[in-house]
Amino acid sequence: MPKYIFVTGGVVSSLGKGIASAAIGKLLESRGLKVSLIKCDPYLNVDPGTMNPYQHGEVYVTEDGAETDLDLGHYERFTNASLGRDNNITTGKIYYSVISKERRGDYLGKTVQIIPHITDEIKDSIKKVAHGQRLDIVIVEIGGTVGDIESLPFLEAIRQLRLELGKDYAINIHVTLVPYIKSAGEIKTKPTQHSVGTLREIGIIPDVIICRTEKVLSKETKDKIALFCNVDKEAVIPAVDVKTIYEVPLEFKKEGLDSLILRLLNLKCEDKALSEWKNAVVKRLKSSRKEVIIAVVGKYITLQDAYKSIYEALVHGAIANQVKLTIKKVDSEDLANNSTERYLDKAQGILIPGGFGYRGIEGKVEAVRFSRENKIPFLGLCLGMQTAVIEFARNVCGLKGANSTEFDPDTKYPVISLLQEQQKVKIKGATMRLGAYQCKLTRGTHAYLAYKKDKIVERHRHRYEFNNHYRQILEKKGMLFSGIYPGKNLVEIIELKDHPWFVACQFHPEFKSKPDKPHPLFRNFIQTGLKL
Ligand code: GLN
Repeated sequence: MPKYIFVTGGVVSSLGKGIASAAIGKLLESRGLKVSLIKCDPYLNVDPGTMNPYQHGEVYVTEDGAETDLDLGHYERFTNASLGRDNNITTGKIYYSVISKERRGDYLGKTVQIIPHITDEIKDSIKKVAHGQRLDIVIVEIGGTVGDIESLPFLEAIRQLRLELGKDYAINIHVTLVPYIKSAGEIKTKPTQHSVGTLREIGIIPDVIICRTEKVLSKETKDKIALFCNVDKEAVIPAVDVKTIYEVPLEFKKEGLDSLILRLLNLKCEDKALSEWKNAVVKRLKSSRKEVIIAVVGKYITLQDAYKSIYEALVHGAIANQVKLTIKKVDSEDLANNSTERYLDKAQGILIPGGFGYRGIEGKVEAVRFSRENKIPFLGLCLGMQTAVIEFARNVCGLKGANSTEFDPDTKYPVISLLQEQQKVKIKGATMRLGAYQCKLTRGTHAYLAYKKDKIVERHRHRYEFNNHYRQILEKKGMLFSGIYPGKNLVEIIELKDHPWFVACQFHPEFKSKPDKPHPLFRNFIQTGLKL
């Protein structure tokens, strides 16, 4: 039976609980333990797949095709855990299941209630993750902030679980904010005391408190938090702001968090330094001087989280090339015809991310034209590939008005059209072409040179697809179809012949990039940009 670490958050949201959980995962893996992670999201959506990025940030797609919270991205980037649909539990999923059981008659005769039915469902869903796997530790992060009405059933469930499992088998870690009040010149512990107080009211007593702070915590402050929050002095772990998120495991290690957790869970493991991670990731990131500028042309650029995995994959590509990355975020709606140069002239690479809907499309087409004509390395992802096809059809093949039927259902040249399997689909949730599919690469192409393999597996999230009817026309003018999904002869990767590096794919390579295993496409994209 695995042991459990429950991670809650207090005071404010956006404290980096996801990164803290991922970093704890990394630390425990480094001690030889097999780890998995779960994110509990208290909202009523079954999954984030139908939410706008402004509401939710990126939707992270797992290998098994689940549309999940972006924290699963942090978990997979920091650890070796391979996650799937069961690793993201939402209130929506829990209620859906309980109500379906009620209709089936599984609770016949009973009044179905939050306690015990909803809380039992949560506990079962948490325990289910370990079925069929030999896991040592499961880290369960509860989304939201303590005190929210929505997260109460989750907190009650973990309270019960801890009681059932016993203290050697489960611990609670609470992540809080310890703010610095500038005008008073003081660090304040009161919000943390209140937050721990609220947790205690619902029966949860933290074993460890992780204090997010911008200033180093003095011994007095740490002792005060320990005293008022009823934890051991060494269980107050400061988490001071760092330059890169990849430093967090190293900082936690310095504070002795891994040894503390192992002691609390009564586990004995050999101590190991995180030297590989330190040398291959953090040192490289911090010591790189030479700069590379990559423009990301999208419509959600004002939001930090909308393209999370893409920004991280670019960082990984920069690590691989030992350069300092500067991302220039360009709003595709700003790219009117004559201003494109002003926005993109310094870019050594242009990336167009995925997306939905017509807004911002024409600006993206314009960015494709700019990179094609000026021979600037280009990486198009999903919708980014589709816009590259539209641009090429319009401006090189002379198919005036070519478009995707997503944006113009009556276009004369539907170079991108609905996947055949999608034609009867009416329901929006979880019905796209999702998750891992195989792709066969053509030797000698940029894609092949990057992956150095004939067959790859990448993750998808789309309804539209390159329309094979136009393959010959585009091919004749210099487009290359370098990756194909053999099962259905679907175009997965396109390239341009007469260009230093123009690669666009229907899948999302960003979901499989890790700081210590940079994705080959991101690596080579940046490598080519550096030569400019
Ligand atoms: N809207 C496009 C489609 O559904 C692209 C999706 C995406 O970029 N993830 O095919």
